[in-house]
Amino acid sequence: IPVDPFDLVIFGGTGDLARRKILPALFRRFCAGQMGTDARVVGAARTEMDSAAYREFAREAITEFDDNEECAAESLDGFLEQLSYITLDARGDTGWQAMKAAMRDGPIQAFYFSVGPGLFGDLAERLHAYEIAGPDSRIVVEKPFGRDLASAQALNKGLAKHFDESQIYRIDHYLGKETVQNLMAIRFGNTLFEPLWNAQYVDHIQITVAESVGVGTRGGYYDKSGAMRDMMQNHLMQLLCLIAMEPPAKFDPAAVRDEKLKVIRALEPVDAEDVVRGQYEGTGELPGYRNQVENRDTRTESFVALKARIGNWRWAGTPFYIRTGKRLRARASEIAVVFKDAPHSIFGADAGRHRNILTIRLQPNEGIELGVTIKEPGPGGMRLVDVPLDMSFAEALGPDSADFPDAYERLIMDVVRGDQTLFMRGDEVEAAWAWVDPIIDAWQEVESDPILYASGSSGPDDALRLMHKDGRRWREIK
Ligand code: NAD
Repeated sequence: IPVDPFDLVIFGGTGDLARRKILPALFRRFCAGQMGTDARVVGAARTEMDSAAYREFAREAITEFDDNEECAAESLDGFLEQLSYITLDARGDTGWQAMKAAMRDGPIQAFYFSVGPGLFGDLAERLHAYEIAGPDSRIVVEKPFGRDLASAQALNKGLAKHFDESQIYRIDHYLGKETVQNLMAIRFGNTLFEPLWNAQYVDHIQITVAESVGVGTRGGYYDKSGAMRDMMQNHLMQLLCLIAMEPPAKFDPAAVRDEKLKVIRALEPVDAEDVVRGQYEGTGELPGYRNQVENRDTRTESFVALKARIGNWRWAGTPFYIRTGKRLRARASEIAVVFKDAPHSIFGADAGRHRNILTIRLQPNEGIELGVTIKEPGPGGMRLVDVPLDMSFAEALGPDSADFPDAYERLIMDVVRGDQTLFMRGDEVEAAWAWVDPIIDAWQEVESDPILYASGSSGPDDALRLMHKDGRRWREIK
């Protein structure tokens, strides 16, 4: 379904994110017929160039980062015609009059702040001062949204001076992933799961976001944040919210975000012995974390694992084990809901221990799998075996269904449609920092180093012990 005509300004339009994600995502929506020929995209950044040069920049970016073969080359020319560029300084006067002149009356206006958070306030202020943005304009802001509660509050305040909360779209691209949205459909579109979705039937939940790569060239940025700030406070906590929240009364922004906020507020403080922080060592040719950042004595963590507890009726007693890290065995992200053992085994001790596990796989191979126990085929008596109950979307819905749109495609179109459901509200972000801050503060107080782990491993052994001491184990990272 085509969206209404829009003017989208990408502040930071020459940056890495615009190149790798935003421009390719827009092109795909153009190819799909969702972005009409009446839409305009304006790149705006400090770099001096004209619109023709920007179109070349976008052509190269899309050629490099868009792997959708169905988008024909002639579509690309059409798409590029709708692009223009303005050289602009977020902190000065350059370019702002030109921007005002470029905006049309009528179409939806969206401003994508694809710049560091240090510029959010400046952009908001100038959009207002030059009378470019109005009460219906939308702004999109990227992570990191602050580095602690105080800085997040300051950012929220800076934006709130000129924009109402209903105009602010805080991106967490994990929420744009097809499977993450499917998690809500599975939970709230079926009667099958929700009656079991509580401490009585769920033994525990595991959330893993494992990366195989190290910090690479982003060491300068990463060393100032670490896994807790860069991943846990936003992406993993958002996943936790969607798994744990109560059914909202409606699938609308206020209802969904109210329920997510309640989860964050119900999180209990984490005990020091329930958090493990690690840092990868060099292995063979691969440099260790400390060799990839400036400060050779850095204590920044490239891995964190913790046990979270939610203090409410639904989840009291069910732990949520959450881990994320770099340079791990594989690039693999999943949520596993591990159900309790059947209350009584009629098949005797020989039948072994079997459990239902619902796995929501985010990468690679996005999909959902339900592990069920069945009889092993054959005449060998009643032997049990665990098999996945197949929910292959491709088979059920046709081959195109496996071709998921990228998270950014979905989210940018949601901005144009004015749907904030999959974006973080200001109070959610602040509540998440309020939970994370004491964990980071405690690390700083003890002045201890993170535990080293080998590149290509599953993280520090202490992270394994975090579950072992509860008689549980992590699923394999593969
Ligand atoms: P980048 O450094 O590659 O690009 C920054 C852009 O901002 C450039 O276009 C630059 O010209 C522009 N800019 C800088 N100062 C300016 C000023 N004073 N006035 C006008 N323009 C100015 O950064 P990036 O990697 O594209 O990241 C942009 C934002 O997105 C950051 O907040 C980052 O944390 C976030 N983000 C990036 C990624 C990613 O993969 N690159 C992922 C998630 C979030």
